Amino acid sequence: MDDQQLLTEQITSRRDDLIALTQDLIRIPTLNPPGDCYREICEYLDRRLQGAGFVTELIRAHGTPGDSEKYPRWNIVARREGARHGDCVHFNSHTDVVEVGSGWTKDPFGGELNDGKIYGRGACDMKGGLAASIVACEAFIAAHPDYAGAIEISGTADEESGGYGGVAYLAEQGYFDPKRVQHVIIPEPLNKDRVCLGHRGGWWAEIETFGEIAHGSMPFLGDCAVRHMGAVLTEFEDKLYPAMAARTTDMPVVPEGARSSTMNINSIHGGQPEQPDDYTGLPAHCVPDSCRIVIDRRFLAEENVDDVRGEVKALLEGLKANRDRFDYDLREINVVLPSMTDREAPVVQTVAAEIEKVLGKPAEFVASPGTYDQKHIDRIGKLKNCIAYGPGILELAHKPDEYVGVDDMIDSAQVMAGALGRILLSE
Ligand SMILES: [Zn+2]
Repeated sequence: MDDQQLLTEQITSRRDDLIALTQDLIRIPTLNPPGDCYREICEYLDRRLQGAGFVTELIRAHGTPGDSEKYPRWNIVARREGARHGDCVHFNSHTDVVEVGSGWTKDPFGGELNDGKIYGRGACDMKGGLAASIVACEAFIAAHPDYAGAIEISGTADEESGGYGGVAYLAEQGYFDPKRVQHVIIPEPLNKDRVCLGHRGGWWAEIETFGEIAHGSMPFLGDCAVRHMGAVLTEFEDKLYPAMAARTTDMPVVPEGARSSTMNINSIHGGQPEQPDDYTGLPAHCVPDSCRIVIDRRFLAEENVDDVRGEVKALLEGLKANRDRFDYDLREINVVLPSMTDREAPVVQTVAAEIEKVLGKPAEFVASPGTYDQKHIDRIGKLKNCIAYGPGILELAHKPDEYVGVDDMIDSAQVMAGALGRILLSE
């Protein structure tokens, strides 16, 4: 048997174990918010990885957003040293899952196996990827116990809410220092034949317009904040959206619609607070004195966040100069900078070569429309040699009846184990 056959055999013989591991992970309901069962899933991973010879650390991200005695932000970092000096390859997976939502026909925390698919919240995003990376590492270690360097696996909290209690915290503590870790693979569900180089940036802000309350029958005695917001939205439609649509990028973002700048308006609210559905009263007659929107502006590697901010501010200032009684407040909620790993980076080339070998076709290079934890590894950890690569279909993430295909997990585990071989077995 040659090396490749030995690894393939090690992985395919672990099929049942891979299924059971994925099911176990799905059955721990690590919902975020609020950040449930983080300790439980870390302890589960701790037992598993210690069994495979890893030295483990459980790390609580004290004081990060959402961390409390009731919902502590626990993370696990496991490291297994090789027989001699060499590079460290790190697999990072988030352990949290988003809310269940409606429309399910399966138990979202049942981990049901049906027709080669495992169902559950987080099956695809990204417990399937976590399970595949663990099995890939275990199979690689069994086939090549004398490898050089080190292998790390982390399970981290809060990716779905920004990663501050997870990867950002670990990066601040030095866990992604390039002196300690040289290659990072994040098994997010980007499809097994794609290497994801990075993601767009995001800027979130709240805009409030002001008015003056008055009786609704005499609006001329007040000033309607909702009409002022209408003027803001008209500016967006007439100027901002066409300007954003005209911008292009070298980032290979998928789907293609996200290859220009985009902006979602998350919410709008003005005037009298909304009443519960069972409220039967009639509205009072008032001119609203405040209207608020939350915007979600996604930007490209070619844009800079000061310009993104400045563009919105300039439109608001223009209204202030030209529109009678217009006044506003602009409050920034969050910023995430874009991240893009160079196509020539070692981890990109290594995983791409393995995809071609295992799947028999060239790897596709993509970038993500939304963000994931790569930003923290890049911006805080200063580690550029990082990609997302994992099984699972991106479009299933956060949907009802989310699933991961067992064959896809096996294939991507082959790619991951092969990539370990290329990095840790070279002399
Ligand atoms: Zn994810």
